[in-house]
Amino acid sequence: MTRKPLDKDDEATVLTMSRRRCCICYGLNKDARLKKGQIAHLDKNSANNKLDNLAFLCFDHHDLYDSTSSQSKNLTKKEVMTYRKELHEAIAEEWKKPIQIGFSTLKTGIEGHYIRETEHENSELTITKIDANQYQIDGFTIWGLSNPNGPNSGSLEFRASLDNNTLRFEDQLENDNYTLELKITGDQINASEENVPGYFGLNASFNGEYKRVK
Ligand SMILES: [Zn+2]
Repeated sequence: MTRKPLDKDDEATVLTMSRRRCCICYGLNKDARLKKGQIAHLDKNSANNKLDNLAFLCFDHHDLYDSTSSQSKNLTKKEVMTYRKELHEAIAEEWKKPIQIGFSTLKTGIEGHYIRETEHENSELTITKIDANQYQIDGFTIWGLSNPNGPNSGSLEFRASLDNNTLRFEDQLENDNYTLELKITGDQINASEENVPGYFGLNASFNGEYKRVK
């Protein structure tokens, strides 16, 4: 398994088809941001430079993919190939859209997309303004990214008005009230849940610090 240098054309093909987006980031988290990374060999044989065996991965996911500590926890080749296909299709779609030169939509206030990434959990929140002080909050979270049986997920959707920089959701349950508070400071959200974590999905939690995606 001697590493052979990649053919320059193949290297360019991998980089342009992915546009340096990591297909695992995209497949697991819908994270299509530009990443620093490397071209990975999906069969882990660095001598196999066939185009179909190559994928651009961010450094973290390249390490995770290549680590052989516990096979069952690792991402499978087939899984990554699916994410790669999905990413390439999404990019091709996106790049077909016309570019608006000289115009940009400026998001004001708290609207936007916020994400939270930890070793085992990924969550995202999207805040959209409905009217003067009413907001729609949509969220998605996955827990157990390295779980061999696949991760658990949860999703939320609610409307709230902004009060003291906080969006609040409450539901009266038999014993206790479930509450979720999203405290917004600049480009950050601090989410805290009280009672019944998992309200929005088994083992799924939204607790933690989120950062707004630019
Ligand atoms: Zn990645």
